[in-house]
Amino acid sequence: MSENIKVVVRCRPMNQCEKERKCQNIVEINGFAVSVTNPSARISQKKKFIFDSAYKMETNTEVIYDEMCYSLVESTIEGYNGTIFAYGQTGCGKTHTMQGDELFSNKSGIIPKCFDHIFETISMATNVRYLALVTYLEIYNERIRDLLNKNENTSLINHSLKEIPGIGVSVPTLTTQPVVNANQCYDWLHFGNTNRVTAATLMNKHSSRSHTIFTITLEQSPFFNSMVSEDDFRGIRKGKLSLVDLAGSEKQHKTGAQGDRLKEASKINLSLSALGNVISSLVDGKAKHVPFRDSKLTRLLQDSLGGNTKTLMISCISPTDINYDETLSTLRYASRAKNI
Ligand code: ADP
Ligand code: MG
Repeated sequence: MSENIKVVVRCRPMNQCEKERKCQNIVEINGFAVSVTNPSARISQKKKFIFDSAYKMETNTEVIYDEMCYSLVESTIEGYNGTIFAYGQTGCGKTHTMQGDELFSNKSGIIPKCFDHIFETISMATNVRYLALVTYLEIYNERIRDLLNKNENTSLINHSLKEIPGIGVSVPTLTTQPVVNANQCYDWLHFGNTNRVTAATLMNKHSSRSHTIFTITLEQSPFFNSMVSEDDFRGIRKGKLSLVDLAGSEKQHKTGAQGDRLKEASKINLSLSALGNVISSLVDGKAKHVPFRDSKLTRLLQDSLGGNTKTLMISCISPTDINYDETLSTLRYASRAKNI
Protein backbone atom coordinates (compact mmCIF):
# COMPACT_ATOMS: atom_id res chain seq x y z
CA MET A 1 0.00 0.00 0.00
CA SER A 2 2.65 2.52 0.95
CA GLU A 3 4.11 1.94 -2.52
CA ASN A 4 1.04 3.72 -3.78
CA ILE A 5 1.17 6.58 -1.32
CA LYS A 6 4.07 8.95 -1.61
CA VAL A 7 4.80 11.94 0.56
CA VAL A 8 7.36 14.56 -0.44
CA VAL A 9 8.41 17.91 0.95
CA ARG A 10 9.11 21.05 -1.05
CA CYS A 11 10.83 24.06 0.48
CA ARG A 12 10.21 27.38 -1.24
CA PRO A 13 12.86 30.13 -1.53
CA MET A 14 12.87 33.04 0.93
CA ASN A 15 10.47 35.75 -0.08
CA GLN A 16 11.18 39.48 -0.17
CA CYS A 17 9.71 40.11 3.26
CA GLU A 18 11.78 37.34 4.85
CA LYS A 19 14.92 38.71 3.20
CA GLU A 20 14.19 42.22 4.43
CA ARG A 21 13.63 40.95 7.94
CA LYS A 22 16.97 39.14 7.67
CA CYS A 23 15.37 35.82 8.53
CA GLN A 24 17.49 32.76 9.19
CA ASN A 25 17.28 29.70 7.02
CA ILE A 26 16.52 26.84 9.39
CA VAL A 27 15.70 24.10 6.88
CA GLU A 28 18.30 21.69 5.52
CA ILE A 29 17.60 19.16 2.84
CA ASN A 30 19.87 16.20 2.26
CA GLY A 31 18.63 13.54 -0.11
CA PHE A 32 15.28 12.40 1.26
CA ALA A 33 15.87 13.96 4.68
CA VAL A 34 14.60 17.28 5.94
CA SER A 35 16.14 18.76 9.10
CA VAL A 36 14.78 21.79 10.84
CA THR A 37 16.55 23.74 13.57
CA ASN A 38 14.64 25.19 16.49
CA PRO A 39 15.57 28.90 16.38
CA SER A 40 14.73 29.57 20.02
CA ALA A 41 16.66 26.70 21.55
CA ARG A 42 19.94 27.74 23.16
CA ILE A 43 21.77 24.56 22.21
CA SER A 44 21.35 23.57 18.57
CA GLN A 45 18.28 21.40 18.39
CA LYS A 46 17.46 19.75 15.09
CA LYS A 47 14.56 17.56 14.12
CA LYS A 48 15.00 15.25 11.19
CA PHE A 49 12.32 13.66 9.00
CA ILE A 50 12.61 11.26 6.06
CA PHE A 51 10.25 11.28 3.09
CA ASP A 52 9.90 9.68 -0.32
CA SER A 53 11.68 12.71 -1.62
CA ALA A 54 12.57 16.23 -0.53
CA TYR A 55 13.04 19.22 -2.79
CA LYS A 56 15.27 22.17 -2.14
CA MET A 57 14.28 25.75 -2.85
CA GLU A 58 16.05 25.85 -6.19
CA THR A 59 14.26 22.80 -7.58
CA ASN A 60 11.62 23.64 -10.14
CA THR A 61 8.25 21.99 -10.54
CA GLU A 62 9.32 20.17 -13.67
CA VAL A 63 11.69 17.98 -11.65
CA ILE A 64 8.93 17.12 -9.18
CA TYR A 65 6.61 16.33 -12.07
CA ASP A 66 9.07 14.00 -13.74
CA GLU A 67 10.07 12.21 -10.55
CA MET A 68 6.75 11.97 -8.71
CA CYS A 69 3.80 12.81 -10.96
CA TYR A 70 4.65 11.28 -14.32
CA SER A 71 3.96 7.65 -13.42
CA LEU A 72 0.89 8.56 -11.38
CA VAL A 73 -0.60 10.35 -14.38
CA GLU A 74 0.34 7.45 -16.67
CA SER A 75 -1.64 5.11 -14.45
CA THR A 76 -4.72 7.35 -14.61
CA ILE A 77 -4.47 7.18 -18.41
CA GLU A 78 -4.40 3.39 -18.05
CA GLY A 79 -7.62 3.48 -16.04
CA TYR A 80 -6.70 3.85 -12.39
CA ASN A 81 -7.53 6.71 -10.09
CA GLY A 82 -4.87 9.04 -8.78
CA THR A 83 -4.66 12.04 -6.49
CA ILE A 84 -2.09 14.78 -6.09
CA PHE A 85 -2.36 17.07 -3.04
CA ALA A 86 -0.55 20.21 -2.04
CA TYR A 87 -0.50 20.69 1.72
CA GLY A 88 0.99 23.38 3.92
CA GLN A 89 0.90 26.80 5.49
CA THR A 90 -0.49 29.67 3.41
CA GLY A 91 2.23 31.33 1.35
CA CYS A 92 4.47 28.25 1.18
CA GLY A 93 3.85 27.35 -2.46
CA LYS A 94 0.77 25.11 -2.79
CA THR A 95 -0.73 27.08 -5.65
CA HIS A 96 2.70 27.74 -7.15
CA THR A 97 3.24 23.99 -7.20
CA MET A 98 -0.21 22.95 -8.43
CA GLN A 99 -1.22 25.70 -10.82
CA GLY A 100 2.03 27.47 -11.47
CA ASP A 101 2.72 31.16 -11.52
CA GLU A 102 1.94 33.50 -14.38
CA LEU A 103 5.23 35.04 -13.32
CA PHE A 104 7.16 31.97 -14.41
CA SER A 105 5.13 30.61 -17.31
CA ASN A 106 1.51 29.63 -17.38
CA LYS A 107 2.56 26.03 -17.92
CA SER A 108 4.82 25.88 -14.90
CA GLY A 109 2.48 24.11 -12.48
CA ILE A 110 1.68 20.43 -12.06
CA ILE A 111 -1.92 20.84 -13.26
CA PRO A 112 -1.05 22.30 -16.69
CA LYS A 113 1.74 19.74 -17.00
CA CYS A 114 -0.84 16.99 -16.39
CA PHE A 115 -3.02 18.40 -19.20
CA ASP A 116 -0.12 18.38 -21.66
CA HIS A 117 1.00 14.93 -20.61
CA ILE A 118 -2.48 13.42 -20.83
CA PHE A 119 -3.35 14.83 -24.23
CA GLU A 120 0.06 14.06 -25.71
CA THR A 121 -0.36 10.45 -24.62
CA ILE A 122 -3.96 9.91 -25.61
CA SER A 123 -3.56 11.57 -28.98
CA MET A 124 -1.05 8.85 -29.82
CA ALA A 125 -3.26 5.96 -28.68
CA THR A 126 -4.13 3.81 -31.66
CA ASN A 127 -6.71 1.25 -30.59
CA VAL A 128 -8.65 3.08 -27.93
CA ARG A 129 -10.64 6.27 -27.89
CA TYR A 130 -10.79 8.48 -24.87
CA LEU A 131 -13.57 10.61 -23.54
CA ALA A 132 -12.12 13.27 -21.26
CA LEU A 133 -14.26 15.20 -18.79
CA VAL A 134 -13.31 17.85 -16.27
CA THR A 135 -14.90 19.20 -13.09
CA TYR A 136 -13.69 21.89 -10.73
CA LEU A 137 -15.09 22.42 -7.26
CA GLU A 138 -14.34 24.19 -4.05
CA ILE A 139 -15.05 23.04 -0.52
CA TYR A 140 -15.57 25.94 1.80
CA ASN A 141 -17.00 25.52 5.28
CA GLU A 142 -17.93 21.92 4.39
CA ARG A 143 -20.03 23.22 1.48
CA ILE A 144 -19.37 22.24 -2.10
CA ARG A 145 -19.36 24.92 -4.76
CA ASP A 146 -19.24 24.27 -8.52
CA LEU A 147 -16.52 26.47 -10.00
CA LEU A 148 -17.48 25.65 -13.58
CA ASN A 149 -20.94 27.13 -13.19
CA LYS A 150 -20.72 30.87 -13.65
CA ASN A 151 -24.04 31.57 -12.01
CA GLU A 152 -22.90 30.06 -8.83
CA ASN A 153 -21.46 32.91 -6.87
CA THR A 154 -23.49 32.88 -3.74
CA SER A 155 -22.75 31.04 -0.58
CA LEU A 156 -26.21 29.51 -0.61
CA ILE A 157 -25.45 26.74 -3.00
CA ASN A 158 -24.32 23.52 -1.47
CA HIS A 159 -24.11 20.51 -3.73
CA SER A 160 -24.84 17.26 -2.07
CA LEU A 161 -22.90 14.06 -2.26
CA LYS A 162 -24.50 10.84 -3.44
CA GLU A 163 -23.09 7.55 -2.40
CA ILE A 164 -23.17 4.89 -5.11
CA PRO A 165 -22.47 1.51 -3.50
CA GLY A 166 -19.40 -0.17 -4.91
CA ILE A 167 -18.43 2.86 -6.96
CA GLY A 168 -17.93 5.69 -4.56
CA VAL A 169 -19.26 9.11 -3.95
CA SER A 170 -20.26 11.59 -6.60
CA VAL A 171 -21.76 15.05 -6.85
CA PRO A 172 -24.48 14.56 -9.47
CA THR A 173 -25.29 18.25 -9.85
CA LEU A 174 -21.74 19.29 -10.66
CA THR A 175 -20.95 20.74 -14.11
CA THR A 176 -18.97 18.25 -16.18
CA GLN A 177 -17.24 19.61 -19.27
CA PRO A 178 -15.98 17.44 -22.11
CA VAL A 179 -12.50 18.43 -23.30
CA VAL A 180 -10.51 17.42 -26.36
CA ASN A 181 -7.18 19.11 -25.80
CA ALA A 182 -4.93 20.57 -23.12
CA ASN A 183 -5.90 24.14 -23.94
CA GLN A 184 -9.56 23.49 -23.22
CA CYS A 185 -8.59 22.05 -19.83
CA TYR A 186 -6.50 25.09 -19.14
CA ASP A 187 -9.39 27.37 -20.13
CA TRP A 188 -11.71 25.59 -17.67
CA LEU A 189 -9.14 25.85 -14.92
CA HIS A 190 -8.85 29.55 -15.60
CA PHE A 191 -12.62 29.95 -15.79
CA GLY A 192 -13.01 28.27 -12.40
CA ASN A 193 -10.29 30.42 -10.85
CA THR A 194 -11.93 33.62 -12.07
CA ASN A 195 -15.26 32.40 -10.82
CA ARG A 196 -13.72 31.59 -7.47
CA VAL A 197 -12.18 35.00 -7.04
CA THR A 198 -15.39 36.84 -7.90
CA ALA A 199 -17.35 34.87 -5.37
CA ALA A 200 -14.61 35.20 -2.81
CA THR A 201 -14.83 38.99 -2.87
CA LEU A 202 -18.57 38.85 -2.53
CA MET A 203 -18.30 36.64 0.48
CA ASN A 204 -15.30 38.39 1.92
CA LYS A 205 -13.35 35.21 2.32
CA HIS A 206 -9.91 34.23 1.33
CA SER A 207 -8.81 31.41 -0.93
CA SER A 208 -6.53 30.12 1.80
CA ARG A 209 -9.61 28.92 3.67
CA SER A 210 -10.98 26.58 1.06
CA HIS A 211 -9.92 23.39 -0.68
CA THR A 212 -10.18 23.07 -4.46
CA ILE A 213 -10.37 19.87 -6.46
CA PHE A 214 -9.89 19.81 -10.23
CA THR A 215 -10.67 16.41 -11.70
CA ILE A 216 -10.07 14.97 -15.10
CA THR A 217 -11.77 11.70 -15.93
CA LEU A 218 -10.51 9.59 -18.81
CA GLU A 219 -12.89 6.99 -20.11
CA GLN A 220 -11.64 4.49 -22.65
CA SER A 221 -13.55 2.59 -25.26
CA PRO A 222 -12.28 0.37 -28.06
CA PHE A 223 -11.79 2.22 -31.30
CA PHE A 224 -14.42 0.54 -33.50
CA ASN A 225 -14.88 3.41 -35.84
CA SER A 226 -14.82 7.17 -35.76
CA MET A 227 -18.60 7.47 -35.56
CA VAL A 228 -18.84 6.67 -31.86
CA SER A 229 -20.96 9.34 -30.19
CA GLU A 230 -20.81 10.37 -26.58
CA ASP A 231 -23.89 8.21 -25.84
CA ASP A 232 -22.29 5.14 -27.35
CA PHE A 233 -19.42 5.50 -24.99
CA ARG A 234 -19.61 2.60 -22.59
CA GLY A 235 -16.16 2.95 -21.22
CA ILE A 236 -14.40 -0.26 -20.43
CA ARG A 237 -11.95 1.54 -18.23
CA LYS A 238 -12.13 4.80 -16.44
CA GLY A 239 -9.34 6.62 -14.68
CA LYS A 240 -9.74 9.76 -12.67
CA LEU A 241 -7.08 12.24 -11.70
CA SER A 242 -7.87 14.55 -8.76
CA LEU A 243 -5.70 17.62 -8.33
CA VAL A 244 -6.13 19.14 -4.92
CA ASP A 245 -5.00 22.51 -3.57
CA LEU A 246 -5.75 22.29 0.14
CA ALA A 247 -6.67 25.13 2.48
CA GLY A 248 -3.80 26.60 4.48
CA SER A 249 -2.82 24.30 7.33
CA GLU A 250 -1.78 27.11 9.70
CA LYS A 251 -3.32 27.33 13.10
CA GLN A 252 -6.03 29.94 13.10
CA HIS A 253 -5.40 32.59 15.72
CA LYS A 254 -7.48 31.85 18.74
CA THR A 255 -7.74 35.46 19.70
CA GLY A 256 -10.21 37.31 17.58
CA ALA A 257 -11.54 34.24 15.81
CA GLN A 258 -15.21 34.41 16.49
CA GLY A 259 -18.43 33.48 14.78
CA ASP A 260 -17.90 32.68 11.09
CA ARG A 261 -14.13 32.81 11.32
CA LEU A 262 -14.04 30.37 14.17
CA LYS A 263 -16.47 28.07 12.36
CA GLU A 264 -14.28 28.23 9.25
CA ALA A 265 -11.17 27.42 11.23
CA SER A 266 -12.71 24.38 12.84
CA LYS A 267 -14.02 23.11 9.48
CA ILE A 268 -10.56 23.47 7.90
CA ASN A 269 -8.94 21.67 10.77
CA LEU A 270 -11.60 18.98 10.59
CA SER A 271 -11.04 18.12 6.95
CA LEU A 272 -7.25 18.34 7.12
CA SER A 273 -7.15 16.09 10.14
CA ALA A 274 -9.67 13.71 8.52
CA LEU A 275 -7.39 13.56 5.48
CA GLY A 276 -4.36 12.81 7.66
CA ASN A 277 -6.28 10.05 9.43
CA VAL A 278 -7.44 8.48 6.16
CA ILE A 279 -3.97 8.50 4.64
CA SER A 280 -2.24 7.14 7.71
CA SER A 281 -4.76 4.33 8.10
CA LEU A 282 -4.32 3.45 4.41
CA VAL A 283 -0.55 3.43 4.79
CA ASP A 284 -0.90 1.34 7.93
CA GLY A 285 -2.76 -1.27 5.90
CA LYS A 286 -3.90 -3.13 9.02
CA ALA A 287 -6.51 -0.58 10.03
CA LYS A 288 -9.95 -2.14 9.65
CA HIS A 289 -11.76 1.13 9.39
CA VAL A 290 -10.71 3.96 7.10
CA PRO A 291 -12.52 7.07 8.31
CA PHE A 292 -13.55 8.46 4.90
CA ARG A 293 -16.88 9.66 6.21
CA ASP A 294 -15.41 12.24 8.57
CA SER A 295 -15.29 15.15 6.07
CA LYS A 296 -16.56 16.25 2.65
CA LEU A 297 -13.00 16.22 1.35
CA THR A 298 -12.32 12.61 2.28
CA ARG A 299 -15.78 11.46 1.17
CA LEU A 300 -15.26 13.06 -2.23
CA LEU A 301 -11.87 11.44 -2.59
CA GLN A 302 -12.96 8.04 -1.30
CA ASP A 303 -12.58 6.35 -4.71
CA SER A 304 -9.25 8.08 -5.29
CA LEU A 305 -7.38 7.11 -2.13
CA GLY A 306 -6.30 3.56 -1.31
CA GLY A 307 -6.80 0.33 -3.22
CA ASN A 308 -5.26 0.47 -6.68
CA THR A 309 -5.07 4.23 -6.67
CA LYS A 310 -1.90 6.26 -6.45
CA THR A 311 -1.57 9.23 -4.13
CA LEU A 312 1.05 11.94 -3.91
CA MET A 313 1.15 14.51 -1.15
CA ILE A 314 3.44 17.49 -1.65
CA SER A 315 4.02 19.26 1.64
CA CYS A 316 5.11 22.83 1.12
CA ILE A 317 7.25 24.61 3.71
CA SER A 318 9.00 27.93 4.25
CA PRO A 319 12.75 27.92 4.90
CA THR A 320 12.81 30.55 7.66
CA ASP A 321 12.93 30.79 11.44
CA ILE A 322 9.77 32.92 11.70
CA ASN A 323 7.72 29.99 10.41
CA TYR A 324 9.35 27.34 12.59
CA ASP A 325 6.19 26.23 14.39
CA GLU A 326 4.15 25.85 11.23
CA THR A 327 7.00 24.16 9.37
CA LEU A 328 7.40 21.66 12.17
CA SER A 329 3.70 20.98 12.21
CA THR A 330 3.65 20.46 8.41
CA LEU A 331 6.58 18.05 8.64
CA ARG A 332 4.86 16.15 11.46
CA TYR A 333 1.62 15.94 9.51
CA ALA A 334 3.47 14.70 6.44
CA SER A 335 5.53 12.14 8.29
CA ARG A 336 2.50 10.88 10.16
CA ALA A 337 0.71 10.42 6.82
CA LYS A 338 3.61 8.27 5.77
CA ASN A 339 3.75 6.43 9.11
CA ILE A 340 7.50 6.67 9.34
P1 ADP B 1 0.03 29.02 -1.11
O1 ADP B 1 -0.82 28.62 -2.27
O2 ADP B 1 0.59 27.85 -0.36
O3 ADP B 1 -0.63 29.98 -0.19
P2 ADP B 1 1.60 30.35 -3.13
O4 ADP B 1 1.76 29.23 -4.11
O5 ADP B 1 0.56 31.36 -3.47
O6 ADP B 1 1.32 29.78 -1.67
O7 ADP B 1 3.02 31.01 -2.93
C1 ADP B 1 3.22 32.23 -2.24
C2 ADP B 1 4.26 33.05 -2.98
O8 ADP B 1 5.52 32.40 -2.97
C3 ADP B 1 3.91 33.27 -4.43
O9 ADP B 1 4.23 34.59 -4.76
C4 ADP B 1 4.79 32.31 -5.18
O10 ADP B 1 5.13 32.82 -6.45
C5 ADP B 1 6.00 32.17 -4.30
N1 ADP B 1 6.55 30.81 -4.37
C6 ADP B 1 6.05 29.73 -3.76
N2 ADP B 1 6.79 28.63 -4.00
C7 ADP B 1 7.80 29.03 -4.79
C8 ADP B 1 8.91 28.37 -5.41
N3 ADP B 1 9.14 27.07 -5.21
N4 ADP B 1 9.75 29.12 -6.16
C9 ADP B 1 9.54 30.42 -6.34
N5 ADP B 1 8.52 31.11 -5.80
C10 ADP B 1 7.64 30.43 -5.04
MG1 MG C 1 -2.82 29.08 -2.63
